[in-house]
Amino acid sequence: MTPEIEVCGARRARWQETPPLVAARMPCALPAGHDGPHQDALAATWADLPAALVDEVAVVVTADAVRCAFAAVDDGGVR
Ligand SMILES: [Zn+2]
Repeated sequence: MTPEIEVCGARRARWQETPPLVAARMPCALPAGHDGPHQDALAATWADLPAALVDEVAVVVTADAVRCAFAAVDDGGVR
């Protein structure tokens, strides 16, 4: 009988999922407590980003989308 190795099991954030979704939702297969990025059974890797950074980027992207929408209205057309 082989000893059980505890795996990390972390999953990507929803915004990091890419097609095919079945593969993008695979958990990390590295040992628990590993260093560096997570890696699934297909050797795809991803990193956990600080929540504050993700939130700030979302605000900047949303603000830019709103600015572009109002600019399109001012120009008399839709981009
Ligand atoms: Zn991991």
